Amino acid sequence: MLAAGDPYRIDPLTGEIAYVVAKRQDRPNLPPTGCPFCPGGLEAPEPYDLRWFTNRWPAMPGDRAEVVLYTSEHDATFASLGVAGARKVVDLWADRTAALGARDDVAYVLVFENRGPEVGATIAHPHGQIYAFDLVPPAPLGELSRRDLAALGPAAAGREGERLVCAHGGWRAWVPWAASWPYELLIAPDVRRADLPSLGSGDRDALATTLVDALGRLDALFAAAMPYMLWIHQRPTDGAEWPEAWVHVHVAPLYRSGGTPRFVAAGELGSAVYFNPVSPIDAAAALREASA
Ligand SMILES: [Zn+2]
Ligand SMILES: [Zn+2]
Repeated sequence: MLAAGDPYRIDPLTGEIAYVVAKRQDRPNLPPTGCPFCPGGLEAPEPYDLRWFTNRWPAMPGDRAEVVLYTSEHDATFASLGVAGARKVVDLWADRTAALGARDDVAYVLVFENRGPEVGATIAHPHGQIYAFDLVPPAPLGELSRRDLAALGPAAAGREGERLVCAHGGWRAWVPWAASWPYELLIAPDVRRADLPSLGSGDRDALATTLVDALGRLDALFAAAMPYMLWIHQRPTDGAEWPEAWVHVHVAPLYRSGGTPRFVAAGELGSAVYFNPVSPIDAAAALREASA
């Protein structure tokens, strides 16, 4: 835990956690000249294939925020990386999870991506981020505390896989039963695996294949780049066993129809109850038909 007076705060009314890092407001919305992630740019002075670095405008102090560049190609998408390119990203995610998780002051490594200006990605170059928390954050802790492993197993895609979108090598992408986003996806292995570092080569290839397929379908759905938020839940790195940890990917795509964002509204924030205008079965059927 960080010391008193640091930016870590627990709201006395709601119990929710906030890191207040006011200087983040100084960060640029858009780089003034060129792309900082392209080779020769500010964050990538040398040619590269994949690259990670500590975030210059971190949301948390203490080298806890990193940026992962998926490729040197500015116009690429996760889907266009192909399976081989996506596999390299999976390997880098696993390596950074292991390196950050080995720190005594890191209890949880959250790998995530904001894709598209509509969800706040200030730079178009394909990239993701990593936060290394000194605590197990409430979202994954809540899931782990529920201990409902069936929520991620093969049965989670519904009767006869009615909400299944695609499956590759023992991994599935499906629309969750109680999806709060219209085309929300979960991606997980059929058999429990705890975290990214413990995945073998076959699982890493299967995860890469499933991500490329599923994210490609999101772009094909409305024939437009789908803005999304993606995050990976995995075993905490606080040294406890966490026998219920089951690595999985959440994808929250923004659009509910072509170009129409689904906004989280006051009635939802005010109640923590979500209203989804698309049936998960219909969403899965549409995504099964959409192909990149
Ligand atoms: Zn670029
Ligand atoms: Zn989760």
